[in-house]
Amino acid sequence: MKNIKDYTLEELKEEVKNLGEKPFRAEQIFKWLYEDKVLSFDDMTNLSIDLRNKLKEIYEIKQFKILKKQVASDGTKKYLFDLLDGNAIETVLMQYHHGYSLCVSSQVGCKMGCKFCASTGIPFVRNLTTGEILEQIMAVERDENIRISNVVFMGIGEPLDNYDNVVKAIHLINNPKCLNIGARHISISTSGLVPKIYKLAEENIQCTLSISLHATTNEQRSKMMPVNNTYHIEELLQACKDYIEKTNRRISFEYALAKENNDNLEDAKRLVKLLKGMLCHVNLIPINKIENGEFTKSSNENIIKFRDYLNEHGIVATIRRELGSDIDAACGQLRRKNLHE
Ligand code: SAH
Repeated sequence: MKNIKDYTLEELKEEVKNLGEKPFRAEQIFKWLYEDKVLSFDDMTNLSIDLRNKLKEIYEIKQFKILKKQVASDGTKKYLFDLLDGNAIETVLMQYHHGYSLCVSSQVGCKMGCKFCASTGIPFVRNLTTGEILEQIMAVERDENIRISNVVFMGIGEPLDNYDNVVKAIHLINNPKCLNIGARHISISTSGLVPKIYKLAEENIQCTLSISLHATTNEQRSKMMPVNNTYHIEELLQACKDYIEKTNRRISFEYALAKENNDNLEDAKRLVKLLKGMLCHVNLIPINKIENGEFTKSSNENIIKFRDYLNEHGIVATIRRELGSDIDAACGQLRRKNLHE
């Protein structure tokens, strides 16, 4: 079965044309799916019974099953979704004063192998489809009866390693006829796949790009993130400069502080040098210790010192508030869970 949510409106027009129908049928189907949010083709009452039956034979309106839902003491909610093919992924809902933010996964597992991340060590299985990315948002909205206002691609997987499906999903999330979330309320986070950053700059989407930087020398970064062996810091920052120039958008650099690893004054000094003059912002994350992980959190005092040094030297830096850590829903804690675990 094909998942009807995998298609853009243009693609759906082609699909219905192949069924011998007029393109406006696709507009009607889109409206039922994303405005009325029906869960069955039978509810699409302005389509002929014949067309509804044809659609049912070829397509499904894929809805995830909630395998588990955990609520943290701060109200953050973590979902474990059954993808209905034997795989599962996690998605996290966070509530901020400005609305609901959803942290979505882009792959079942991850190939990047970052040493500090819980998604590492569980083999990669497959990319999520566009419809599966959308369904994470729609399933949570249905379950909680809310409207999500921000989407961040910071769950399991490397979004730029699933480039086509992720970019298509961003277009649909943003499309007023689909999920209608402003591009500036969509963030994509990458460990630094340089060629894909250049490509993304050409897409003409106003989403926010976050770069998982985490270190200031190639030696140090390669120890934390194997991707740095392929694309060095200098190449990565060059791609970021190109992205800023093309999009005029500020980049957010993620920097997870780990005790006695990347959190001393020398690191802060090098970071200032690297980012000087760039249209950017640094997001400092107290690193979350993962099972058997070698990295532990910096002290609060150190984190504040690090932030203050950056701010005093012209780099805007904030400390990210950690949400959901008591249910393993904070940064880097998401895993692809075994259905039988
Ligand atoms: N693959 C993408 C998106 C997923 S990770 C990326 O690498 O950016 C989302 C963010 O959480 C990234 O900035 C990542 O580096 C960070 N992260 C991963 N593990 C972490 C941990 N244990 N503690 C704090 N942040 C972590």
